[in-house]
Amino acid sequence: MFCTNCGNKMKKDDSFCTECGTKVNQNTEVKNVKIRVIREKKAMGFAIPFPVYIDGEKVGTLSNGAMVEVDTTLGHHLVEFVCADGNIKQDVDINKNHECVEIKFRACMGLVAASVKITSVEYK
Ligand SMILES: [Zn+2]
Repeated sequence: MFCTNCGNKMKKDDSFCTECGTKVNQNTEVKNVKIRVIREKKAMGFAIPFPVYIDGEKVGTLSNGAMVEVDTTLGHHLVEFVCADGNIKQDVDINKNHECVEIKFRACMGLVAASVKITSVEYK
């Protein structure tokens, strides 16, 4: 669980954020969101699928043109892709004004191998 105000990682039964003091409202519906990670198909792209981790937990494997969805909360999340060129880590801030985050991968020749979009935050 992460603070919806500052993104601080919190214990499950904390009532207040230890960093910024924001009160945790356990019943706020807007805390639960869906993150959609899309791997766009690129003409130069490699078809090798790569695993996707969010906050250290494997949420799926992406091949070209594929998508994974994960249920999570507002706040900061660490998105990690494990691909041939090494692990790519990206911090994303999922907030009410979330905008699309795009991460481009480069292959050894400097070509863009694939790009991944983190998009479509849906409130339940
Ligand atoms: Zn906080």
